[in-house]
Amino acid sequence: MVDLLQTAPEPDYRRQLRDAGLRVTAPRLVTLEIVAERQHAEADEINAAARERLGDVSMQTTYGVLHALTEAGLIRRLDTSSREAARYEIHRHDNHHHLVCRICGSVEDVPCTRGEAPCLEPFDSGDFLVETADVLFRGVCAACRPPQSTSVPVVPSKEEEEER
Ligand SMILES: [Zn+2]
Ligand SMILES: [Zn+2]
Ligand SMILES: [Zn+2]
Repeated sequence: MVDLLQTAPEPDYRRQLRDAGLRVTAPRLVTLEIVAERQHAEADEINAAARERLGDVSMQTTYGVLHALTEAGLIRRLDTSSREAARYEIHRHDNHHHLVCRICGSVEDVPCTRGEAPCLEPFDSGDFLVETADVLFRGVCAACRPPQSTSVPVVPSKEEEEER
């Protein structure tokens, strides 16, 4: 896909690593590139792509790199379920949230309704200063839904359909 407006300059990952106080290494650079290309990728997928580019990259190296990049705030780790591997995305600090399909496990970005953190406050948090709210919207994605139904497993009645 060609971006005619050229709005987004090529990110300078070397500089991002240095600014975050991390040494610039090939596995770190390549991991940032891969995470940027495939949003919400899992560690084994990132490792396979890193091997294609760099040759021998152990799973242990990939875990170490993902951990360091997450700690440095360059990437964001997303745990969608205890049964599934963590997913990673470039940390854009935009407070966006995620739609997670409970059937196929797909993850989609969705903008925050309020646009600033925290967009949700607990009813009573006492003296606790709430800074962020991580929101996961769970449901069923379009691909996993039978055609023309708006929800699963409850299918709208005829009357409800006609009101639309
Ligand atoms: Zn799905
Ligand atoms: Zn995301
Ligand atoms: Zn929000």
